[in-house]
Amino acid sequence: LKTRYRSWRKKPRSRAAWCSCAGSVIFRRTMSVRKWAMRGTLVGVAGGCTYATYSFFKPVAQVDFTGEKKMKRIQRFNSLVDRGDNLQAAAKSRGQHLASLKDEMFDVVIVGGGCTGAGAALDAATRGLKVACIERGDFSNETSSRSSKLIWGGFKYLQVAFAELLSTKSLSNPVSAVKKFWGEFLMVAECCTERSWLAGMQPHLVQYVPQAVPFSVWVQWPPYFNHPFYSILPIIALPAFWFYDALAGFNAPISYAMGPRKTKETFPQLKDVNYSAVYCESMHNDARTGTCIALTAATRGASIANYVEMTGYVYGGEEGATVTGIQCVDKLTGEKFEVKGTSVVLCTGAFLDAVRRMDDPKAEKAVAAAAGCHIVLPGYFTPGGMGFAELRTSRGATMYFLPWLGHTIVGSTDKKCDATSSPEVAEDEIQYLVNEAASCLSGDIQVRRSDVLSAWQGWRPLYRDPNAPPGAPVSRHHVIGVDEKTGVVFVCGGKWSTYRAMAEELVDKVVSHKKLWHARPCMTKKIKLVGGDGFHELLYVQLVQKYGISEDIAKHLAHTYGSAAFAVCELSKPTGKRWPRFGRVLVEGYPYLEEEVEYACKHEYAVTVKDMLTLRMRLPPINP
Ligand SMILES: Cc1cc2nc3c(=O)[nH]c(=O)nc-3n(C[C@H](O)[C@H](O)[C@H](O)COP(=O)(O)OP(=O)(O)OC[C@H]3O[C@@H](n4cnc5c(N)ncnc54)[C@H](O)[C@@H]3O)c2cc1C
Repeated sequence: LKTRYRSWRKKPRSRAAWCSCAGSVIFRRTMSVRKWAMRGTLVGVAGGCTYATYSFFKPVAQVDFTGEKKMKRIQRFNSLVDRGDNLQAAAKSRGQHLASLKDEMFDVVIVGGGCTGAGAALDAATRGLKVACIERGDFSNETSSRSSKLIWGGFKYLQVAFAELLSTKSLSNPVSAVKKFWGEFLMVAECCTERSWLAGMQPHLVQYVPQAVPFSVWVQWPPYFNHPFYSILPIIALPAFWFYDALAGFNAPISYAMGPRKTKETFPQLKDVNYSAVYCESMHNDARTGTCIALTAATRGASIANYVEMTGYVYGGEEGATVTGIQCVDKLTGEKFEVKGTSVVLCTGAFLDAVRRMDDPKAEKAVAAAAGCHIVLPGYFTPGGMGFAELRTSRGATMYFLPWLGHTIVGSTDKKCDATSSPEVAEDEIQYLVNEAASCLSGDIQVRRSDVLSAWQGWRPLYRDPNAPPGAPVSRHHVIGVDEKTGVVFVCGGKWSTYRAMAEELVDKVVSHKKLWHARPCMTKKIKLVGGDGFHELLYVQLVQKYGISEDIAKHLAHTYGSAAFAVCELSKPTGKRWPRFGRVLVEGYPYLEEEVEYACKHEYAVTVKDMLTLRMRLPPINP
């Protein structure tokens, strides 16, 4: 072939002959590429069809993050133990926990009972460590009960990171720009994995909720996420959401598009749109999940008490500079005592600096708290259990309309300011959210200030490098640090979505720093939170059939207590009516039972009426 080719080349040829020759080569190459592309497509289609046929006929399997695949079946509960009562029996009373806190020596003493602190207590207890955990209010009474209720994968953060990578600023230092993008990418991947774990392993508390993103133009200007590339987001939104689904291993329901008619049917209150891209995030009742984590830690052997405040440190060690415990006060009795341990871990969220300054009043700030507000509107703004998002408000931020407990949460804002306990929401922030909500909807429906049922504000406990210059950008990642002088470990930043992964990393750090080599490896991925064992989607039907309670109450109980709902129903008293036969509601029109109060006081460390109504039942946010 070579010889023939050389002799052919040596012959003089016209330009036309050369062109036709090149043309024929290109044509043949293209044909062969097309042939291979055709073959590849055929193999892909055949594979897809085979998988679809297999999925159609295979028995329904429940993915269990313990690594096993269980066949789904409806479980019947015939004994108290099956009903989950063993978990309550295993947990000690608050008085017993306080006695252990005073008398025993612990491996780890955790300050703060939000999602981070309770998560760390559960992680450490299940590794076989002796754990103490104190919380100055009720469990998850601060930021952990004032979130947007999303367990999200971080679609927005992925887009913002990509926009930063594409910006001209990254040209001056491409290596650090790529590194930063990679860091954000890994964070989003971790959020997606944790979201899949929570929705898969704790379905009684966390459920997937579809979110529509309506687009009324094909090219948006000013662009989304403040980058020109995202002006074409309406065109590329669906593939972008599929990429997001892929990051979560396709564990969430797959994203899809709704045409203008279907969008109007689903959200009649929206302006006319070209189409909507629908993707899934998961949602939960944050205060309830937080309480469940704390209760699970208690059942796994942690000594955990609410209404105990840390007031100072206990010092020891060779030079008397190492922290070997904390000074506490029982806020219910005023009694002061010390809790001693090998390591002290601060999980005090946005209040970290106040606790750090108990040791060194001049300590540099580590938290750049950012306040976020939400308002609650009636449920008719998110009909059919689907939320929607406006990706660009007048402040250039994203605004969510989320269905929650039969109502609609709208938020959030983002404003830097120092954290205070039990904050009031500023009127101008409420008005901003009302105006923005109104601008997203068609003129046929009004959003008035009087439609706002309640509002809340929380602080994102973002980490600020104490050595960074003023005004330096603040990261959304969590940071785990160790005070070299005192040996105190602290965690700052993070989010609800990654509370488990954060706790794992934190306890790993404590184990290596304090050389607690008797600790086992982390096993929280295999643990169901209280009520998770024996929960299934039809549990509420069993409750209705067995106890004669109404369907909405049964659904509320199943998704609050999981399989422990049987134990709550056992306490229920006759209503004296033909239907529902049992379960006296606390407030007419809401599915909360009087018996829940008794159950929470007896088994779940509920202490005050305010906590019962606000955190355990969530009545004030939805019924002011
Ligand atoms: C508006 C807003 C919306 C958010 N939305 C989401 C979301 O949708 N999804 C998501 O994943 N994340 C979200 N986040 C982030 C998430 O809510 C927080 O990162 C998380 O709740 C922080 O938990 P934490 O336990 O670290 O802090 P906290 O919940 O604040 O817990 C710290 C605890 O420490 C206690 N404490 C403080 N000092 C002491 C002391 N001296 N003694 C004893 N106890 C003490 C406090 O009482 C408090 O309970 C949101 C945050 C905000 C502000």
